[in-house]
Amino acid sequence: MTSSEDHVADPSDRVVVFDTTLRDGEQSPGATLTADEKLEVADALVDLGVDVIEAGFPAASPGDFEAVRSIAARVKGASVAGLARANQGDIERAAQAVKGAEAPRIHTFIATSDIHLQHKLRMTREQVLDRVTAMVGFARSFTGDVEFSAEDATRSDWEFLVEVFKRAVEAGASTINVPDTVGYTTPTEYVALIQHLRERVPGMDQVAISVHCHDDLGMATANTLAAVAAGARQVEVTVNGIGERAGNTALEEVVMALSTRKDTFGGVVTGIKTERLVPTSRLVSGLTGLRVQANKAIVGANAFAHEAGIHQDGMLKERTTYEIMNPTDVGWEGTKLVLGKHSGRAGFRSTLSEIGIRLEEDQLNEAYQRFLLLADRKKAVTAADLAALVSDQLAAEGDVLQLVRWNASIGSTGPATASVVVSRGTEELTGDAEGNGPVHALFQAIETATGLKPELEYYHVEAVTPGEDAQGQVHVRIRSDGALYTGHGLATDVVEASARAYLAALSKIERGQQTTVVPGPGTGASRWS
Ligand SMILES: [Zn+2]
Repeated sequence: MTSSEDHVADPSDRVVVFDTTLRDGEQSPGATLTADEKLEVADALVDLGVDVIEAGFPAASPGDFEAVRSIAARVKGASVAGLARANQGDIERAAQAVKGAEAPRIHTFIATSDIHLQHKLRMTREQVLDRVTAMVGFARSFTGDVEFSAEDATRSDWEFLVEVFKRAVEAGASTINVPDTVGYTTPTEYVALIQHLRERVPGMDQVAISVHCHDDLGMATANTLAAVAAGARQVEVTVNGIGERAGNTALEEVVMALSTRKDTFGGVVTGIKTERLVPTSRLVSGLTGLRVQANKAIVGANAFAHEAGIHQDGMLKERTTYEIMNPTDVGWEGTKLVLGKHSGRAGFRSTLSEIGIRLEEDQLNEAYQRFLLLADRKKAVTAADLAALVSDQLAAEGDVLQLVRWNASIGSTGPATASVVVSRGTEELTGDAEGNGPVHALFQAIETATGLKPELEYYHVEAVTPGEDAQGQVHVRIRSDGALYTGHGLATDVVEASARAYLAALSKIERGQQTTVVPGPGTGASRWS
């Protein structure tokens, strides 16, 4: 997917992407960025293709002022906006901060809902109207690009809003923003409001209608898209949807909805390079420390991951059975077929072949059963797990001694005890024992069951993958009648993995398959490490 700037037949088909990750986004609790980090994000936003970067609130603090000023001086190819309350001090500060920008914008706002007028501003509607005229005009004295926002517009009286926007347009605002500041509106209501304003505010067709939505009821993206369908041509968004309280409209969601569902949005386009969405999401998540939830649309780790067997089967036959977007178009490496307990044979077989493992049908059946057992115990089964699982299975193939059942119990009051059932061909051998730990007791029980009593020379445990639910791989080397035998065992439970390793080595004694002397660590090491 490339930027579709050059395909725009009619400018009204172009939706301006106003990113406020560095202003509203950074207001998320705990997401404060340093000035350098803000510059890094600004660079990434330019690469992503946003049209306007709201860099901060210059009057808020010297740090904010400095950050906006340095971003304004640095950014090429996007407008840089500074936010300001509708008062002289804020607007002057914002004007100074964005003055060095290639395309400076002052974004000024005042609340218009009765709740805010009464409780926060303690101003009358008349006073607000006069303030709008005065301050939008004042902002225009610094730059031709002034945006005006009626804070809490969606809970404001519609007729008063018409008056407010009329004043703002007359005073020279070129972008009129209709914020759903507290995430209160619904798609139908928002559409009706936008249509009402387009009909009633003189000159509204000469300015860009902008929308700014919060996600308090989970409707930010739906509200924003509905407003675009109703004629809004600027969307105020943040990367990953971060922002005050439940966050803002997520840039990636709006952009991909508009491009995936061109058919319902009248073919409107943005300038976003969609393949930059995932890298930018990662950058913002990394710098702010606000992790992206796995099931987040577009940029969540599972957004293009398929675990269920039916889905995997469909995906392997035709990707679009379960994907409406191509993951590489948004910057993922590709589709992820995640192996988990819901995965089917098709997904299991295809992952094995991806890692170069081909099995006979019966081997595949057994490996698949072992995989399902593992998947029940382990959250995510990785390729490393599969490789270890299959090599363990193939290594154990033909082992005359196979683990059937085992039990071990430990406590502070007395020795550990263990019992085991081992099969030897069609025979079942049982053994019970005590020991100074579960592994020791289990080894003793296996010796009782098999009648084999070798000397343990080497015992080593390692995890196949990171994580507390990792599979443990145990390697043992035993000496019997002067000959050495090695064995490997694998399981999420290290005690079980130890038993499997021991039985694998004992099986070699039974088969007379001794091992040549293995140099290196552990030779002569204490019996129970
Ligand atoms: Zn906001």
